[in-house]
Amino acid sequence: MNDSAMARSWVEHANGHRDFPLQNLPLGIFSRQSQAPRCGVAIGDAILDLQRVLELGLFDGLARTAVEATRGGALNAFFALGTAARVALRERLLELLGEPGEHRGELQAALYPASECQMHLPAKVGDYTDFYVGIEHAKNVGKLFRPDNPLLPNYKHVPIAYHGRASTLRPSGTEVRRPKGQTLPAGHTAPTFGPCARLDYELELGIWIGQGNEMGQAIAIDEAAGHVAGYCLLNDWSARDIQAWEYQPLGPFLSKSFITSLSPWVVTAEALAPFRCAQPPRPEGDPQPLAYLFDAQDQASGALDIELEVLLLTPRMAQQGLAPARLTSSNSRSMYFTVAQMVTHHSVNGCQLQPGDLFGSGTLSGAESGSFGSLLEITEGGKHPVQLPSGETRTFLEDGDEVILRARCMRPGVASIGFGECRGRVVAAN
Ligand code: CA
Repeated sequence: MNDSAMARSWVEHANGHRDFPLQNLPLGIFSRQSQAPRCGVAIGDAILDLQRVLELGLFDGLARTAVEATRGGALNAFFALGTAARVALRERLLELLGEPGEHRGELQAALYPASECQMHLPAKVGDYTDFYVGIEHAKNVGKLFRPDNPLLPNYKHVPIAYHGRASTLRPSGTEVRRPKGQTLPAGHTAPTFGPCARLDYELELGIWIGQGNEMGQAIAIDEAAGHVAGYCLLNDWSARDIQAWEYQPLGPFLSKSFITSLSPWVVTAEALAPFRCAQPPRPEGDPQPLAYLFDAQDQASGALDIELEVLLLTPRMAQQGLAPARLTSSNSRSMYFTVAQMVTHHSVNGCQLQPGDLFGSGTLSGAESGSFGSLLEITEGGKHPVQLPSGETRTFLEDGDEVILRARCMRPGVASIGFGECRGRVVAAN
């Protein structure tokens, strides 16, 4: 086995790669030329075609079972196999792609430049639930509406979420059509209908559910981490004006369901293991989690240390040859509940989770300016425009604007890994 923290790959461009060194090995679904979509693993700037490697006879046992489960162009059946199959596949890929590369001659034919491939959603998502566990975002947004009492009384007890729309999940790169809907313009007493005027992004982590549970059987907190297959970036595009008018009393509806963008690579729970950390202690005076949400191990190592960022590229910036401007830099440690707590809470009433279900974390903002994960927070509801290097300003997104989410994990003595990108460019309403 070749799982040491700084092991090298014979795929030279993988070594020191910003996102996809040997230690990451994220899984995704890609197609090339006229091939049907199939499972691949990102290694440097290339994609290894696992179907092809299977045909070469280079997988045995559980690793072989894992790759066979990806036939059909979706990872649901692979996710359903759970942790042991994922680990077996990872260990075999570390052998195949690590130095010295006993099979490199054969494997060269199964490696394609990523730039020649198209990425798809990694799984067929049955259900998508968007949480709200980024406490700084909840406070920042709450302050806009309730300056003295930003968090509602349930926030520190219940992992808040709403059921999102699985049908409009799309991979990075899909254009974002400005939605139309009902809004109540300031000073008006009756709504109008038209294109959204306050289009926003939300910087979130996506969480892929692995093995599910039977309906009626809750997932215990000490088993919850074993039900998570991996992670991606998620942009919960939000129409703030539509949202403000529709959200009471049942929460977001059409303001969130026009598109949700995902980065296409599933960064596995195993790849993220070196970047686990303790859940930050709750401030003095905050309630402790109820017993069904408390596990000492989860508190000790159930949080994630992932650096997150949002960049914006306007058409004028692109024309002037300017690089995308960073609007946000934050970290996933701002989650008030762990992912295990989210899984347990979601199933505690007997709700069934299924392989390939997707959770959003909620917007991951920090407490300081520069770390806010949405324009709503950055501009304080549109009051303070953002200055861009082109001399332009923005309160909310304009047609042609491209939003890019990135994420990276870093720790001394361990190879850094990244998530790739989650991009989307806004196009005019129909
Ligand atoms: Ca959200």
